[in-house]
Amino acid sequence: MKTEELRRTTCCVIGCGPAGAMLGLMLAREGVDVLVLEKHADFLRDFRGDTIHPSTMEIMDELGLAEGLLDLEHMKAPRLEARLPGGTVTVADLRRLKTRYPYITFMPQWDFLDYVTREAKRYPNFRLEMNAEARVLILEDGVVRGVRYETPEGSREARALLTVAADGRSSPFREQAGLKLVRTSPPIDVLWFRLSRRDGDPKDTFGYAGGGRFMVVINRGEHWQIAYVIKKGEYQSVHDAGLSAFRRSVGDTIPDLADRTGELQDWEAVKLLSVQADRLRRWHRPGLLCIGDAAHAMSPVGGVGINLAIADAVAAANALAGPLEAGRVRWRDLAAVQLRRELPTRAIQAFQSVAQRRVVSSALGPDGAPSIPAPARALLSLRPLRDLPARIIAFGIWPEHVKRREPLARKESVK
Ligand SMILES: Cc1cc2nc3c(=O)[nH]c(=O)nc-3n(C[C@H](O)[C@H](O)[C@H](O)COP(=O)(O)OP(=O)(O)OC[C@H]3O[C@@H](n4cnc5c(N)ncnc54)[C@H](O)[C@@H]3O)c2cc1C
Repeated sequence: MKTEELRRTTCCVIGCGPAGAMLGLMLAREGVDVLVLEKHADFLRDFRGDTIHPSTMEIMDELGLAEGLLDLEHMKAPRLEARLPGGTVTVADLRRLKTRYPYITFMPQWDFLDYVTREAKRYPNFRLEMNAEARVLILEDGVVRGVRYETPEGSREARALLTVAADGRSSPFREQAGLKLVRTSPPIDVLWFRLSRRDGDPKDTFGYAGGGRFMVVINRGEHWQIAYVIKKGEYQSVHDAGLSAFRRSVGDTIPDLADRTGELQDWEAVKLLSVQADRLRRWHRPGLLCIGDAAHAMSPVGGVGINLAIADAVAAANALAGPLEAGRVRWRDLAAVQLRRELPTRAIQAFQSVAQRRVVSSALGPDGAPSIPAPARALLSLRPLRDLPARIIAFGIWPEHVKRREPLARKESVK
C-alpha cells in the first residue's frame, strides 16, 4: 500500500459520536497519538441524543472545558415533570443534588461534537478524518491491527496498536470480531418530530400522558422536540390511521400545542426510532475495544445514552492511556474497561426496562394511566430516597472522573 493510503497511529477510533470524540480528545490530551475516523462529512444529524447530564458536565469541568461548552447556545432543565390527567408530577428535581451543574443541559449533539473536536485539534497528536468510512478490521494472527476504510479519494488502511469501535448501535465490527450480543426486547418505539414554540408557551421539558398516549416534549429554543412513544411494532397502524388522526392524538395529549399540529404536513416530518437495547457479552478482543452504543445500545428512557457513552470513553482513556503510551495493551487492560463499565450499564438497562414496562407501557394501555407501583411510591416519598431518580438520571450508577494526569501543552485555539 502506498504511504498516502496508509495511516499509522497508536489508537484508531472508529466513529466520532460522543464516545469516539471524547476518547480521541482525552487520549490526545494525555499524549497518545490518535486517529478518529468519521464516515459523515459533518456532525449535522437530526433527532440525536442532545441531553448532557451533570455527570458529563463534571467531566467537562475536570477537562477545563465546561465553561466553553456553556458559552454555546443551550437550554437548562433543572426539573423533569410529567403532566398526567390527574395533575403534574415531578419525576426528578436536580436542584437538590450536590453538583455545580444541577440541571440537564440541552444542546444539539452536533454543537457538542464540533466543540469537543475543536478542542481535541489543539493537540498535535489528534487527527480526525471526516468522510472516512471504516469497513473491515485488519486481523492478523487473531489480533486486530487496524481497519480498512473508504474515503472520497479511495481506500485507505489505518494500522494501530489499538482499534476502538465507537461507531454506534449498528457496529458491524462486533460481528467481524466474533463478539456476541445479548439482546433485550424493549416494548416501545419512538416517533420524533418538532413543532414550533411560541410566546407564552411553557418553558420546561415535560412528559405528557393520557388517553393511552405518552409523549415527551423538549424545549429546544425555537421549537419543541417531541418524542411520541408507541408500542413496539405499532408504527404501521399509526401510519395507516392517517396523519389527521396522528395530529389529533398529539393535540389531545398536549393541549398546549393543539393549535399547531397542522405544521406536520407529511410523514417525512416524523422519524421512527426503533428502540433497541442490547449489550456485548465481551467488549474486547486482542487489539480491539468496543465502547458506547457499539458495546451497549440504550433505550431512550431517561436520556442517558450520550452520558454513558462518554463515561465509557473516560474509563477507557483512564485505563488505556498509560498502556498505549508504553506501547503494550494487554488483555487485562481491555478487560478493566469492561469490568468498570459493565455493571453500571446493566443496572441502568434494568432500571430502563422497569420504567418501560411499568410506567411507559401502562400509559399506552387502554386506561392510559401510567402507574408507579405503590411500594415504590411509598419508598420514593421518604426523604433519603426522594432524590434517587434525580441522582440516577444525573450521575448514573458509577460516575467516571478524569484521572488527574498532566495534560500535553495545546495550541491556543484552532479554527
Ligand atoms: C433519535 C434518537 C434520540 C436519542 N435521544 C437521546 C437523548 O435524548 N439523550 C441521550 O443521552 N441519548 C439519546 N439517544 C442515544 C444517543 O444518541 C446515543 O446513546 C449516543 O449518541 C451514543 O454515542 P456513541 O458515540 O456510542 O454512538 P453514536 O452517537 O451512534 O456515534 C457513532 C458515530 O460513528 C459514526 N460511524 C458509524 N459507522 C461508522 C463507520 N463505519 N466508519 C466511521 N464512522 C462511523 C457515525 O456517523 C456516528 O457519528 C438517542 C438516539 C437516537 C437515535
